[in-house]
Amino acid sequence: MSDNPLLATTGLPRFDAIRPEHAEPALRQVLDEHRARLTEIESLNEPTFATVVLPLEEMRHRLARVFSPVVHLNGVMNSDALRAAYNACLPLLSAYHTDLAQSEKLYRAYQRILDREGSTLDATQREVLEHALRDFRLAGVALDGERKARFKAVMMELSRLCSKFEENVLDATNDWSHHVTDAAQLRGINAAIVEQAADRARERGVDGWVFGLDQPTYVAVITDCESADLRRAFYEAWSTRASDRGPAAGKFDNGPVMEQILQLRHEAARLLNFGNFAEYALADRMAKSVPEVSDFLHRLARAARAAARHELEEVEAFAGHQLEAWDLGYYSERLQQQRFAISQEELRDYLPLPRVLAGLFEVAEKLYGVTVHERAGVALWHPDARYYEIHNAQGETIASFFLDAYARPHKRSGAWMDDCIGRKQLGGDVTLPVAYLVCNSLPPQGLRPALLTHDDVVTLFHEFGHGLHPMLTRVGYPSLAGISGVAWDAVELPSQFMENYAWLPEVLDRISAHHDSGAPLPAEKQQQLIATRSFQAGLQTLRQIELALFDLRMHAEYTPALGGRVYQILDEVRHDVSVLKPPEWNRFPHNFGHIFAGGYAAGYYSYKWAEVLAADAFAAFTEQGPFNRTVAERFLSSILARGGSRDALTNFVEFRGRKPEVEALLRLYGIAA
Ligand SMILES: [Zn+2]
Repeated sequence: MSDNPLLATTGLPRFDAIRPEHAEPALRQVLDEHRARLTEIESLNEPTFATVVLPLEEMRHRLARVFSPVVHLNGVMNSDALRAAYNACLPLLSAYHTDLAQSEKLYRAYQRILDREGSTLDATQREVLEHALRDFRLAGVALDGERKARFKAVMMELSRLCSKFEENVLDATNDWSHHVTDAAQLRGINAAIVEQAADRARERGVDGWVFGLDQPTYVAVITDCESADLRRAFYEAWSTRASDRGPAAGKFDNGPVMEQILQLRHEAARLLNFGNFAEYALADRMAKSVPEVSDFLHRLARAARAAARHELEEVEAFAGHQLEAWDLGYYSERLQQQRFAISQEELRDYLPLPRVLAGLFEVAEKLYGVTVHERAGVALWHPDARYYEIHNAQGETIASFFLDAYARPHKRSGAWMDDCIGRKQLGGDVTLPVAYLVCNSLPPQGLRPALLTHDDVVTLFHEFGHGLHPMLTRVGYPSLAGISGVAWDAVELPSQFMENYAWLPEVLDRISAHHDSGAPLPAEKQQQLIATRSFQAGLQTLRQIELALFDLRMHAEYTPALGGRVYQILDEVRHDVSVLKPPEWNRFPHNFGHIFAGGYAAGYYSYKWAEVLAADAFAAFTEQGPFNRTVAERFLSSILARGGSRDALTNFVEFRGRKPEVEALLRLYGIAA
């Protein structure tokens, strides 16, 4: 299959030519080539940086180039054929990555190269080696035979249990429905959600409305439904999913699954000589130890608690009574609407996408001296997609990106940034980085441009901020360029940093233009919008800290003798930091997929961690003016351009002149002491 467009080694992906049937053959071919090459490399008697590391970096780049268009298309142009092709590829990829990570020969070769050539290599080259060696060890490659086999078995079993956890949550969610026959109960709920429930009732041949427990329905009911009884019913079903309590008690109970997951994670960590799973998880993070994360969270909790108490009193005074867990969202929403008299929907009229993009690109130009230019004539996967080049001050192209801004059927929801082609410079020519930025805004209607909410704008700034990481990197080794190799708790720094610009009056002036009159968002509306940012920030911060501390302690304090003690630890954490006590029957850990099924185990703290980094970095700008070129150049050279080529803390300290501090975030949210 020599004409397989995925196998092209230069240029942009040929999105006009790539078909689902190209995916698996292209991947098989490149993996076959790689395995043959690996066998050669593993058998070298005198491994050197040039004969081992460079080819492996090259192979990494090549594999990403072949497969990134497949991942991308699966996300933005999903079809049965593509999904099948993609799913057929996943086991091939995971087998390849496992073989690579578990190769003792490669591990020893990297170690030998570091020992022999370390003193003659530059800092980035040494980091390539040290990074790889650390990943080898964390994958269990250095274990002796029996322990290695056990480690593998534990990891396999964990991946099975994590998907079982997810299935139980999904099954419990799908299992529950609620039949309403009294229209009065539905007052306040979004019309589209009610309409959907009416359709479901018709399908089932019953009167009235049948509601499911999907997330949009749950959120709509809990924030807007006037009936406290209905809110309570939804809250109970939602917060007891996959547990021993609530309407489906015991039916999809994750309790035993959670206990096993905690036990096996602990065992895996102990096999690698870590004290517990939290220590293992922190081994490649910016945060270095369990006490460091714990202190960080407690510090933030102490600072946020007074604000949270005050916010709770305020919303209870507004409601006129003490609030139950299923009341807080409802009364908070009413209070917010009364206080700020501004809605995301009305902001749309002022935020047409072309204007927002022009303003965003201006921000990038003012900060980093780069300009953004749309280019036509590039093969795209959908007519709505766009392609842009980034030029430096000399007018040279240094990077480019695709933007796919609108929601449409067969496109995954949410927003994300991904590498299309990573930057590469391994002695020869430079391969320029190309990124994908994907959002899900409302498409244009008729002659009207796409109109964004301010939430959409913040998301766009966020993803563009992520994109600057790979696009402005100066690193040439694919394993460390852009976001590759960046500590996982620091990856959100550039994106959350960029969000701050979407809230500046001078930027709001530039990105807003009423789609009829062209007038910018009036100053009074701007102030109202900016004020919404800190609404109930104390309560929200405490909630995040409660989850993060619970996650951390549960993974740090596991002992084979006592087991997980999930609810005991949760109670202690709540006693420690929370101002709100949920009902005794609340079972949210049973459906806390982030840490039991997703990648956030002993990592939930990362949300706040990165937020602190971003706020503290942004504070360096506000001290000097948000567009100060000297500070921006330092942010670029110390953080963005560095990627994973240096420890994230060193990058930050070089930029800020000191370690990160939480005060800037507290000030940003108006909850500073
Ligand atoms: Zn992000």
